[in-house]
Amino acid sequence: MSTVSNIVNWARIKSPWLLHFNTGACNACDIEIIAALTPRYDLERFGIQLKGTPRHADILVCSGPVTRQIEDRLVRIYEQMPEPKFVIAVGTCSCTGGVFKGCYNVKAGIDSAIPVAAYIPGCPASPKAIIDGVVKLLSSLKEK
Ligand code: SF4
Repeated sequence: MSTVSNIVNWARIKSPWLLHFNTGACNACDIEIIAALTPRYDLERFGIQLKGTPRHADILVCSGPVTRQIEDRLVRIYEQMPEPKFVIAVGTCSCTGGVFKGCYNVKAGIDSAIPVAAYIPGCPASPKAIIDGVVKLLSSLKEK
């Protein structure tokens, strides 16, 4: 690996940019994700920053199951992210489909549409669990 790509990877791990996308959640997981980003829980102390575009994001944080209506958009957003990219599924619905599994309009969890690097279960997942999941993902990337 060249020095330049070493520096780029170091910067990504030290300051990953994050995009949040609700694929069909009831909104409770979204509130917990926002809470994790506020000064009370302060996810930003790990250098993490919320971004508004997939083209600048390293990590896609998804909440909710994949509905049939959102699937194409989810795949399109994922494809617009630059490599290397990682997906975190927040909440039981995101991990497996949860309480919405089996509904006519729901496919399943996020991994039924795009690859997922980390699963954070809970209904809703707490800010502490979200921070723990993100830090574990970053630590595993550092080891690699
Ligand atoms: S896991 Fe629970 S809180 Fe989160 S979107 Fe599903 S039903 Fe809502």
